[in-house]
Amino acid sequence: MNFLEERILKDGLVKPGNVLKVDSFLNHQMDIALMDEIGKAFYMRFKDKPITKVLTIEASGIAIAYPVARCFNVPLVFAKKSKSVNIDGDMYVATVESFTHKNVNQVIVSKKFLSEDDHVLIIDDFLANGCALQGLISIAEDAGATVEGIGIAIEKGFQIGGTVIRNLGSPLESLANVDAMDAEKGTVTFRKQ
Ligand code: 5GP
Repeated sequence: MNFLEERILKDGLVKPGNVLKVDSFLNHQMDIALMDEIGKAFYMRFKDKPITKVLTIEASGIAIAYPVARCFNVPLVFAKKSKSVNIDGDMYVATVESFTHKNVNQVIVSKKFLSEDDHVLIIDDFLANGCALQGLISIAEDAGATVEGIGIAIEKGFQIGGTVIRNLGSPLESLANVDAMDAEKGTVTFRKQ
């Protein structure tokens, strides 16, 4: 069992609706030492790729993506959620349905910050149905950038996203892959890596 799986067992909470709460260490209060370890773990997995930018989505993706970008010593770009219907031509736009909030957001990245010269590592905290990642991949593709890989802190392997995204072709690595969780018993089991 790796450091993140151990921490999930210690401090993660299983909520009804297939939601794993990790807000005491990952996406509300953040354990900075853990974040640094996550950064190094993704660096080890993707260090042979010519990464020029790390791409994520606000808000909780930023905390995971920051230490990764630090390790690669490249800029971090995050897609912003936008309510505006009048998005001008200077933006790449994708539509993303939120798994946790059940709403639909347009997410935008300025054309200034992503181009065909970029080799992108996409990072996010969770993978559930894959909507957030599909949005980020489509933004990278619109920019003509190369998606070199995708790094996810916690994949919920019992949901469809992992299969959908892997079928698109980019290498996807998750640090913890949850096979099953039970809100009544409070149990989490991981897929063997
Ligand atoms: P997807 O787009 O893959 O359906 O969901 C991914 C997004 O939903 C992530 O960016 C994350 O913010 C949120 N998310 C999905 N599942 C969970 C979960 O079990 N717990 C938490 N805290 N967030 C989740």
